[in-house]
Amino acid sequence: MAVTAEEAPKKSLNFIEQIVENDIKEGVNGGRIQTRFPPEPNGYLHIGHAKAICLDFGIAERYGGVCNLRFDDTNPAKEDVEYVDSIMEDIKWLGFHWNNVYYASDYFGKLYELAKQFIREGKAYVDEQSAEEIARQKGTPTEPGQNSPYRDRPAEESLDLFERMNRGEFAEGTMVLRAKIDMGHSNMHFRDPIMYRIITSHPHHRTGREWKVYPMYDFAHGQSDYFEGVTHSLCTLEFEVHRPLYDYYLDQFVKGDYRPKQREFNRLNITYTVMSKRKMLQLVQEGLVSGWDDPRMPTICGMRRRGYTPESIRAFIDRIGYTKYEAVNDVALLESAVRDDLKPRVPRVCAILDPVRLVITNYPEGVRESLVTENNPDNPEGGTREMAFSRELYIERGDFMEQADKDFYRLSPGGREVRLKSAYIIRATGCEKDAEGRVTTVYAEYDPESKSGSAGGNRKVKSTINWVDVETSAEAEVRLYDLLFLCENPSAEGGDFRELLNPESLTVLKGCRVEAFLGEAKAGDKFQFLKTGYFCADPDSEAGRPVFNRTVSLKDSWAKK
Ligand code: ATP
Ligand code: MG
Repeated sequence: MAVTAEEAPKKSLNFIEQIVENDIKEGVNGGRIQTRFPPEPNGYLHIGHAKAICLDFGIAERYGGVCNLRFDDTNPAKEDVEYVDSIMEDIKWLGFHWNNVYYASDYFGKLYELAKQFIREGKAYVDEQSAEEIARQKGTPTEPGQNSPYRDRPAEESLDLFERMNRGEFAEGTMVLRAKIDMGHSNMHFRDPIMYRIITSHPHHRTGREWKVYPMYDFAHGQSDYFEGVTHSLCTLEFEVHRPLYDYYLDQFVKGDYRPKQREFNRLNITYTVMSKRKMLQLVQEGLVSGWDDPRMPTICGMRRRGYTPESIRAFIDRIGYTKYEAVNDVALLESAVRDDLKPRVPRVCAILDPVRLVITNYPEGVRESLVTENNPDNPEGGTREMAFSRELYIERGDFMEQADKDFYRLSPGGREVRLKSAYIIRATGCEKDAEGRVTTVYAEYDPESKSGSAGGNRKVKSTINWVDVETSAEAEVRLYDLLFLCENPSAEGGDFRELLNPESLTVLKGCRVEAFLGEAKAGDKFQFLKTGYFCADPDSEAGRPVFNRTVSLKDSWAKK
């Protein structure tokens, strides 16, 4: 449902929107607005990326600007087309459209020429020290670093070496190109940062073996922004300390009035999970989850499989907003966003997760009637459906108790009357048990005058229970998910985050029984299972053998933990 700006409730601008409005007013870059979303194709997108996507694309949409997708593919050792494809799919699924797709690798030629210009101008040199030696000379925030012995080598020498680095004459790790700035600078990023390194061990997913040297993030990002015409380069707060270097590199070659400007906002972190592609990759590679799209993962594809909607993710991000301060958001907020979104949209159905047979002894044998039920009482357009009713039903095992006290409102022999959802009122009369004392069948009698919707159907009883017809219901597998990690902020604990995984984050229930039509549910179909939660059909479903993922319980259940 599209809401125009005029209809949308007035919401105060976030600080980035304020900056943008101000820039438009002052005619910065001619009042033009251009953003980009710049993922590195080294993993699947997670909900943290969704926060950046909503801002990058949202700003362009709101202010009539342009937002491009740019793959920041400067490290072939970690990147792959598999990731490129998944990133595009996930952005589209979230509901955003880019104007163009660019790749930082498109600029390898230009960046290489720019690096050579730096060398000629005495602003860069080839350093032949090892990474360890370079790190040792870096100094600390309070102590200056030391100059490399190669720092003052002649430009022609560096130029020659850099070209030979790119011809593959030197092994990976033996040399780097460094910017010659200031080893005593208070900003560590200015202490002769590395501009280029040799990578020969992996081909690039687009340029193959054409290049042997690859630019570092800092030497590629601002330049790419500039080449594309980006005006507002939005990124997360950890890049704030890189911003002076972003500006420094631009200062060295930009002529004219147009300049991209970097702005930073807070990263998204969520309790009880990790928000880093590197850690997620580890979980996938070590088989600690079933894949990037494991429904417990905070990846976009995992959340999609779990049953999250794009609307719920966008609503959540809108609620938490953008600030200049790092924080960890409560997972309960994310879950309440998907509940709010699904509640009026999805049909409410009967699914019996732990079934026990119920026989209604005074209901005629061989009869099956069709009872009409509303799909969603909160949605007048939700329509109705029919449920098959007969003498033999399944109910939840927990809805029957052989010996119950007076606080138990559900079925118990000699106990209270209970309504079967959208059907009749029944009263338990007894049960049958197996050798271990486990109830196998519950017996009850029904009141034929009490059918829901009939003249006698509005007699009030204390509780309503769910049921499905034994013969026509479908058997289902149901997967329940708990928090992936046992502690609120596994990344902040120090030590090995994998030891903090919740060993009970997945419970698989087999032999569940669901209404007949759910047997044909297609991957992605969403439902409310009455009293249990919101569920989404998994791609593992087969015709007549559905598999459901619990997206979220009906109420916040983590809060009490
Ligand atoms: P990770 O740390 O998970 O590997 P990253 O920052 O390396 O993430 P990129 O592919 O470089 O991932 O990120 C693309 C864009 O998404 C960047 O602009 C980055 O600032 C933003 N981004 C990444 N993680 C988050 C997050 N948790 N919250 C908000 N924005 C994020
Ligand atoms: Mg990154």
